Amino acid sequence: MQAAVVPTLGAKLEIQQLPVPEPGPGQVLVRMEASGLCHTDIHAAHGDWPVKPTAPFIPGHEGVGVIEALGPGASVHRVGQRVAIAWLGSACGTCSYCLSGWETLCESQQNSGYSVNGAYAEYAVADDRYVVTVPDAVSSFDAAPLTCAGVTTYKAVKVSNLRPGETAVIVGIGGLGHLALQYAKIFGGRVIAVDLEDAKLDLARQLGADEVVNARTTDPVEAIRALGGADVAISLAVSPRAFEQAYGSLRRGGRLVCVALPADDAMTVPIFDTVLSGKSIIGSIVGTRKDLQEVFDLHAAGRTEVIAQPRKLIEVNDCFEEVLSGRVPARLVFQF
Ligand SMILES: [Zn+2]
Ligand SMILES: [Zn+2]
Repeated sequence: MQAAVVPTLGAKLEIQQLPVPEPGPGQVLVRMEASGLCHTDIHAAHGDWPVKPTAPFIPGHEGVGVIEALGPGASVHRVGQRVAIAWLGSACGTCSYCLSGWETLCESQQNSGYSVNGAYAEYAVADDRYVVTVPDAVSSFDAAPLTCAGVTTYKAVKVSNLRPGETAVIVGIGGLGHLALQYAKIFGGRVIAVDLEDAKLDLARQLGADEVVNARTTDPVEAIRALGGADVAISLAVSPRAFEQAYGSLRRGGRLVCVALPADDAMTVPIFDTVLSGKSIIGSIVGTRKDLQEVFDLHAAGRTEVIAQPRKLIEVNDCFEEVLSGRVPARLVFQF
């Protein structure tokens, strides 16, 4: 099979011919139809984060395909079913986090395309219990970005406790942001989209943003305060400054949800203002299998639109450059 492999951290990816993996106990073998490119894959390949993957490895955690074989004991899914391979490759299923609906916090979790091989390949093996069935009404091409960008932002809106009529600021309109703003609308929010590029703000308008703010040409904190301030701010831009501005735009009682993971890992928070204004800072990491089912169901019901462009796996290094240059409107998806 063809696979894109990170040979050593920081090196360009290599397209290699590898044997199709055998599904082990409790695993399924998935023939990939679509595999999304998430910014995390670039951080993984570069070894940007404190906990690094071990090279060589195959990145990718927005994999969607058809089950071709079952390993010994795999009994949740059937051959021929279409499933998604997400960041949460597996978890222990028995710790306090797993038992309380917070499997994404499990300390024994494996992560697809990071601690185990992922979806940048024609075939991948995955844990039968942790792949999520894709409804017939959702194409594999759309399902791929929903598998990380979708579920991550859907969960962020959920944990923000956004209520109907409240104002939600979405900072960064890209692969994640274009979906985040649609979920904020579904939850009944009034949405202010913030980005540095007018083209992305135009996209935000098309997808239902009520207001847009260009943070390159205006001070976003002042602009958002002039619009009444934010009850919720979801920070999807990989810059500590963007986090601080998102915090600064909050009204009293406001909630900042941190989602992006800047390589520069620190922001400054005023304690006095946090206390007196009753502000909250919430970290949110991907979403559970149940969250992903809900994301697929919303899409099947026609409530969301995925903006993505198709690419071939052999173009992977050019695609990384494209994403890093900011030229990609939302998401790139490798098609097989
Ligand atoms: Zn991701
Ligand atoms: Zn666990």
